[in-house]
Amino acid sequence: MSNPTIAVDIDGVVFNPQEDLLASANAAFNTDYKLEDVVDFDYRNFPLRVRNHFMYCWDSMDYYTLTPVEGFYDGLSILQSLGRVIAVSAPMRGHLHVTSKWGRLSDIFGDKNVVLTKGKDNVNADILIDDAPKYIDQWLDTERPIVIQARPWNEEYLDKMIQCIARETPYKVATDFSNAATLVEELLTNNVPKA
Ligand SMILES: [Mg+2]
Repeated sequence: MSNPTIAVDIDGVVFNPQEDLLASANAAFNTDYKLEDVVDFDYRNFPLRVRNHFMYCWDSMDYYTLTPVEGFYDGLSILQSLGRVIAVSAPMRGHLHVTSKWGRLSDIFGDKNVVLTKGKDNVNADILIDDAPKYIDQWLDTERPIVIQARPWNEEYLDKMIQCIARETPYKVATDFSNAATLVEELLTNNVPKA
């Protein structure tokens, strides 16, 4: 595939904000939530009390305070040598959240390579790196290849998905971001588009 477009999910892939959310929620509400309380990739599926605390912190999250995951810039260099790399993420309703997300991602990926959208299946790209079961399913339905970033909140989903022999769309599971970049390269090399 020549000059493919590679879509990269942000939350849980480029940044792993769950720990920062825990710290913010604990500081703001004088609570003692632990990482094991993060039972789902989506805080909206948390128990009500935890959800309300997280929602407040999530909507006011400043992306300039977040550090990309280890190996991110090495992985990004690999991806950029393969094609165009776009950041794809959901716009949240909090103003600081969405403006700082846009600004930070523009700094990293270039302002023409940031797509803030709900849903991923309508994104014009050849391959996706993502961690959230909901978006993985959406993408798999489009029959385009995907690299899944392994996270505690998709462990159970992956167990089920891998057992599902009906899946014919090429996918690989990454341990970290530079591994994900290598797997994207493998999938793009091996993936022969359907006639
Ligand atoms: Mg994500």
